[in-house]
Amino acid sequence: MSSADGLPPLRDVVETYDLAAKKSLGQNFLFDLNLTGRIARACGPLEGVTIVEVGPGPGGLTRALLSEGAKQVIAVERDERCLPALAEIESAYPGRLKVVHGDALATDWRALVADVQGPVRICANLPYNVGTALLVGWLESDPWPPWYERMVLMFQREVAERIVATPEQRVDYGRLGVLSGWRTKARILFDVPPSAFSPPPKVTSSIVELTPRAELLPCHGKILSAVTASAFNQRRKMLRQSLKGLAINGKTLDALALLHGAEIVETKRAEEVDVAGFVRLAQIADEMSR
Ligand code: SAM
Repeated sequence: MSSADGLPPLRDVVETYDLAAKKSLGQNFLFDLNLTGRIARACGPLEGVTIVEVGPGPGGLTRALLSEGAKQVIAVERDERCLPALAEIESAYPGRLKVVHGDALATDWRALVADVQGPVRICANLPYNVGTALLVGWLESDPWPPWYERMVLMFQREVAERIVATPEQRVDYGRLGVLSGWRTKARILFDVPPSAFSPPPKVTSSIVELTPRAELLPCHGKILSAVTASAFNQRRKMLRQSLKGLAINGKTLDALALLHGAEIVETKRAEEVDVAGFVRLAQIADEMSR
């Protein structure tokens, strides 16, 4: 039986094109059209909106985004085995799906959407092995506001909790929470059980929505990342210890001077510093590195 878009069921697509899931590419496919529809609708009304999708695979989420009304989907897929299946979707939605065969980690996102008119949003069931690196790249985008107006992304639940974490939830709070808290409002929308995927992963996944903040506390994303990584690298240690050896622009900074400049008590631990505190540290680190 074919689905509403006239395309064959996803299980048949996987069989026809021999798309046995590859672990090395983080392939856990979604076949449930109710679920892919729910994820697509989490991107908000899609009329006039272009969606950038990473890893369309056999195209379950891609099809949902198109049938929910996205003006266009630009999908970056690394596995060339998926291209014939995606070509079928292109034919079913003429002019609305552009597939780019390539590595999302090496993609120039601004160039990819340079000709797009209207809003762009990112929606993806991300490959677990590169999901965090992609998110960090999008969060560090410059200039700001970024090229996307919203992200709706699937992560392992444990990563999702780190993305939305605040200092009050010390266990999960770290570099990801600081970066996403600085640049976006992030929240978990809903969980997806392992049984929804083929093959099922070992852990529960979650859909996270990240909306870029219009007003930002000013600092350089890459410096904020470096300061936060250093501070949380030894999260149980006091900052005067964990920030020792921090180098910015090739210059090793004096941890005590950095903390004093940012007006942060040197005996504090990274998990006790809020986003504004890390931004102050990044600002002073920037000044000290010049
Ligand atoms: N979107 C499909 C779905 O929901 O059923 C597949 C999601 S699967 C979790 C991740 C997809 O990302 C796979 O199709 C995989 O081939 C692709 N992928 C893995 N690494 C990639 C990379 N570096 N760049 C682009 N795509 C990648």
